[in-house]
Amino acid sequence: MKVRNPLALLAFGLAFSVAVVAATYIFAAQKATSDIREASERQLQIIALDLGSVLDKFETLPYALGFQSDVVQALTRPDDQAIIQRLNQTLQLIQRQSKVVAIYMLDRKGTTLASSNWDTPTSFVGRDFGFRPYFSEAVKGNAGRFYGIGNATNIPGYFIAQPIYASASARDNGAPLGVMVVKIDLTEFEHTWSSSEDPITLSDHSGVVFLSNRPAWKYRSLYPLNGEIQLDLAGTHQYADQPITPVASLPKHLRVGFGDHVTRTIGRLGWQLMLFPSQARIARVAMLWALAAALLLAIAGISLWALYQRRRRLEERLTSAEYLDRTIAQRTQELMVANHTLEAKYAKLKETEHLLRSTQNELIQAGKLTMLGQMAAGVAHELAQPLAAIRAFADNAITFLGRQQADKTAENLTHISNASARMGKIIGQLNSFSRNSYDTVAVIDLQKSIEAAALLMRNEFQTHGASLHIDIRQAAHVVGDAVRTEQVLINLLRNALDAVDNAQQKNVWLTLEKEAGEAVIRIRDSGAGIPAQVALHLFEPFFTTKPSGKGLGLGLAISSSIVQAMNGRLQANNHGDGGAEFVLCLPLLAQS
Ligand code: ADP
Repeated sequence: MKVRNPLALLAFGLAFSVAVVAATYIFAAQKATSDIREASERQLQIIALDLGSVLDKFETLPYALGFQSDVVQALTRPDDQAIIQRLNQTLQLIQRQSKVVAIYMLDRKGTTLASSNWDTPTSFVGRDFGFRPYFSEAVKGNAGRFYGIGNATNIPGYFIAQPIYASASARDNGAPLGVMVVKIDLTEFEHTWSSSEDPITLSDHSGVVFLSNRPAWKYRSLYPLNGEIQLDLAGTHQYADQPITPVASLPKHLRVGFGDHVTRTIGRLGWQLMLFPSQARIARVAMLWALAAALLLAIAGISLWALYQRRRRLEERLTSAEYLDRTIAQRTQELMVANHTLEAKYAKLKETEHLLRSTQNELIQAGKLTMLGQMAAGVAHELAQPLAAIRAFADNAITFLGRQQADKTAENLTHISNASARMGKIIGQLNSFSRNSYDTVAVIDLQKSIEAAALLMRNEFQTHGASLHIDIRQAAHVVGDAVRTEQVLINLLRNALDAVDNAQQKNVWLTLEKEAGEAVIRIRDSGAGIPAQVALHLFEPFFTTKPSGKGLGLGLAISSSIVQAMNGRLQANNHGDGGAEFVLCLPLLAQS
């Protein structure tokens, strides 16, 4: 899913959600309306059955009472107080038993002769109810039924009236003697309905509400009454002469729910039982559904959004991974090219170095050849003396041999041997000087070289009563020929020993340390130091201040050439505290 325009999608999602929520609301409202209507119908049916059964229950009571023996007697002899009194008591007894409001008997003119409430302040006895419709109907021989507010008691009730005849036979053709009336209380129903949230009304055929769980609606009409009805109501005092105004004229909060309704006709007077389903309930149910829909949509929306974000992150990660791969590939390519270039340069460098080295070697060799010229004189001088001595000793040996003096002969031969040994030594030194510099190249641990040189020199130092002080401050490794390095150190130590030989203090100090990428060996002595004119020729071959036979003047020259071959330096100077100091610097091994 590639979202081009998230804002447009959001707007679409919002519009869609609003549409869905609105549709849900409308649909739920319709469904709730029909559901609630159906439930209301059922509720109304139950109420109607309940109400109908109560009305029917007492329907026959006045009729049956008409057969009481005292009834007819009382009607025929209304002045007989004993009969009236007896009837009063009978009616009262039955009234209490049957739990009706009142039972009373009217004569043919509508005057009450006997009543169950004869002993109360609101007694009906003597009262005229001739104006009541139930009486006029009953006196005609029909059953009379009526609902109204009691004229004497002000208590509303349902009146059922039956004509009373002198005998069963008179019932068919004679006029009634009087009328028996039963008054029933229906207000109990109001209490039952009060638990209902919806307004419930029972109204008469004129549309006047006389029972309701909405007290404000009572004795008000569901629609405006015309003059004729109003006149009729006034005539019958049905609702105690109070003016009947429509429910619609009530303040708004008192007629809440007045509108759509379900209705049912009940009883024999064409009463209308009505239930007004609460619009607020419908709205509530619809709102609940709409809310549920909104919630679902919100969850779906959030889930989709989370999914989208996750996808986007994955894509981003993928893109960045691709980018990384590409960059790495590119860098690798660049590195490979650089590596090739480097390799080519390195090869070239190697070639140049090789050229340089061979040139250097050639130069060194050439230098040596030059020196050879100088050497020839020295060598001739050095060798001539022992050679002349050998000849003289040989001549002597021949002479002593002729005289058969074996001991003298042997003495001269020993001199010859010594002289030739000395010659051999000179030649040996020359040999080592002419040898090529690159014999064995290895990593040299300078500490070990120093220790080896010191070991070899130990005897000589002891013989001369001199002390050698070695101070290895730092270990150091260099590249070169180990044997030759030792040779250099031995040369320098021997020179130092020679220098201190005539001194009072015979000390030689050797230190090793690292300085600026170099291994530095300092050999200092407590000798007389190097005179200025000597310093100028110090490293020249065959330059020596030592007596003939003691020094050849090759030590420093050879040492210097060895050190140079290792790319190092050999320097000499006089130390501030007296004595000479030779400083040997060699480049350190890369990782040492
Ligand atoms: P040789 O030792 O055979 O003379 P070298 O080349 O080793 O040859 O030394 C050359 C000269 O340098 C020595 O004759 C000496 O005069 C001088 N020299 C060398 N070492 C010292 C030293 N430690 N003190 C004073 N002079 C020195």
